Amino acid sequence: MSAPRRLLARLRATMASAAPKLPQLVRLVSSELVAEVCSVYAMRPGDILELIATEGLNPEAVGHTRLRVGEGIVGIVAATGRMLNLPDAQNHPAFAYRPETGEAPFASLLAVPVRRAGHTLGVLAVQNRAPRAYTEDEVEVLETVAMVLAEALAAAGASDGAEEGLASTLQRRFPGTSLVPGLAIGRVVVHGRGQGPGRLLADDPAAELARLDAAVKAMQRGLDELIASSLPDTEAGRVSQAAIASREVLEAYRLVAAEGSWLRRVREVVRGGLTAEAAVDRVAGELRDRMRRIVDPYLRERVADIEDLAGRLVATLGGGGQPRVGVGAILVARRLGPAELLDWHAAGIVGVAVEEGSAAGHAAIIARALGLPALAGMRGVLEALEPEDDAVLDADEGQLILRPELEAKTAYSRALEARNLQRAGWAGLRDRPAATRDGTPVRLMLNVGLALELEQLDSTGAEGIGLFRTEIAMLARGTILDIAEQAAIYRRVLDAAGERPVLFRTLDLGGDKLLPDAPPPVEDNPAMGWRSLRIGLDRPVLLRRQLRALLQAAGGRRLHVMFPMVATVAEFRAARALLTAEAARADPVPAAISVGTMLEVPALLWQLEALLPEVDFVSVGSNDLMQFLFAADRGTPAIAGRYDMLSPPMLDILEALCRRAEAHGVALSVCGEVASRPLEALVLVSLGYATLSMPALGILPVKATLAAADLRTFRPVLEAIRHGADGAASLREPIAAWAREQGLPV
Ligand code: PEP
Ligand code: MG
Repeated sequence: MSAPRRLLARLRATMASAAPKLPQLVRLVSSELVAEVCSVYAMRPGDILELIATEGLNPEAVGHTRLRVGEGIVGIVAATGRMLNLPDAQNHPAFAYRPETGEAPFASLLAVPVRRAGHTLGVLAVQNRAPRAYTEDEVEVLETVAMVLAEALAAAGASDGAEEGLASTLQRRFPGTSLVPGLAIGRVVVHGRGQGPGRLLADDPAAELARLDAAVKAMQRGLDELIASSLPDTEAGRVSQAAIASREVLEAYRLVAAEGSWLRRVREVVRGGLTAEAAVDRVAGELRDRMRRIVDPYLRERVADIEDLAGRLVATLGGGGQPRVGVGAILVARRLGPAELLDWHAAGIVGVAVEEGSAAGHAAIIARALGLPALAGMRGVLEALEPEDDAVLDADEGQLILRPELEAKTAYSRALEARNLQRAGWAGLRDRPAATRDGTPVRLMLNVGLALELEQLDSTGAEGIGLFRTEIAMLARGTILDIAEQAAIYRRVLDAAGERPVLFRTLDLGGDKLLPDAPPPVEDNPAMGWRSLRIGLDRPVLLRRQLRALLQAAGGRRLHVMFPMVATVAEFRAARALLTAEAARADPVPAAISVGTMLEVPALLWQLEALLPEVDFVSVGSNDLMQFLFAADRGTPAIAGRYDMLSPPMLDILEALCRRAEAHGVALSVCGEVASRPLEALVLVSLGYATLSMPALGILPVKATLAAADLRTFRPVLEAIRHGADGAASLREPIAAWAREQGLPV
């Protein structure tokens, strides 16, 4: 047996024994590595390293010799997280001589960091009298011992002095952007970091290598399936860039998984005596450390990929393919792919926080589809958290509270309980038709864009799909789907809806990045740029193909087509002409075709007399209408909430629109996010809106509020509030006060 293997075998026996471990460990390392000294320094609160065990130095120094992080060789190793191999340590400029240790005679020194879950817990060092550079094998073995030591130190509670000192036990609050509102309380699980490698040392490297190879193959198969299955259907996004990026990530995954040099390195480490899990963990850690010093964002991203991949591999080695430790947990991730989020959802997580992510990202859309409270953009959470920390994810207020103090946790638990009770009460509403207390019927419909959301039709009791965002499937694929592919999706949607109507909105792409043959234009204001119907009209082939796919999917059924971002009647007419031309060729012809427009561009409000006689329906896209009306970008957190739908200008506009639509007998709905908020929904209904379309999460709460509200009482109140507005920016407070007085669940 080679010396390193023998050391690891004996180490295994030492760690398994019940006896005090540290003195044995340093003695063992010192004898097996032929080092005159072996010492362990542990991190203490206040960034202090304390000598806690030694073989070869003065035993009296144990518990007394202390160094600051950054001080001396040991301090530098702790500060940088990198090993130092010095034949002549005493003449190193940073050498800090500590007479009480009796280390004067030792010339050479090898020191490695003791790290666990991204934190430095201490330093392990060996020293020799003779000046010598330690061999690569010796470095490798000492690093392996450091891993074992990390587990032992953590188990012994020494980790309370980890990197952040006492800070790592205190409550910390991280502000973020809410992707999906809601509240969750639970233990933290970290995506990609795995749950630690578990067993570290292996008896039989050959068997370990075989396990590793099998797991790599399984992981590759899993990735191929992930790429194949997530791109067409389960993956989706609102911004083409996100789709492209996600595709790149998946492709890079596949490449790295297939032949990356990191895997060769993992094999090498397994041959050295580590379990496959420990080797993967170790190599990912090495890469992480190396990458910490690289600024190039592209390279850093690649390392993040490997990190995620390593987590996947460790999970695969665990046998399940995905960790099954998510029940009741809050998932924290640097970045998250949509299929990964689905995996975690299946594992039972109750909330998700991603450091890098936006409302437009794929994970956000999946989270919304799953009704999973989600936050993005909290910098530094991953660094700050300890495995098993508790957290409160408050996606209503946009914050993650790590290690909440008892008071905060109790308050949030109470809020969550109240909410759950309320939900349980709402469940009974599912099969009741939506109506106000005075009996005014209201149609509540769904906004969706993913096949996986169709199930919500039944789970919410929605009366149909008021907005089907067709671009989502395209964004998911990163390319324009062909007619047959599109038709298959639309057919599935119509099949799921049955008798219930589905309003298909034609492509509402945020730019032209998905179009294969056009260079992306540089736009200062993409939201007001070449997007949506503008692309469809400039590239009529694209729009006609989509319309053909919709007609094919409808077959003989009824078809509703809605055009987005219409700014002029002429644009609507041009789009409708394309539909008419396609419909003329359709076989079979749909039972009926309804054509409508979204109202998102304020200019259209002044063309209603020309527009309304020509449309079958209009749906207010309040997300865009608000942003254009108030000149306030909908994606800029700094101005989110600055302007209110419940404001005199919006209410005046919405009311006037409603009167005009009634006069022309045109069906009118609202499909922006505001429709999903109970107070806004109540106001919309009292203004005369009979159809509201919204994300699934909104349906039951809105139904509950409407059922409790009497419009005969509310209308004059709203009238009076609007009348007395006197330049107020928002009428929310007085409206909410009335709702509270009435005991409405808003
Ligand atoms: C809107 O603008 O209100 C709308 C529903 O469309 P989207 O959110 O897809 O832009
Ligand atoms: Mg819009």
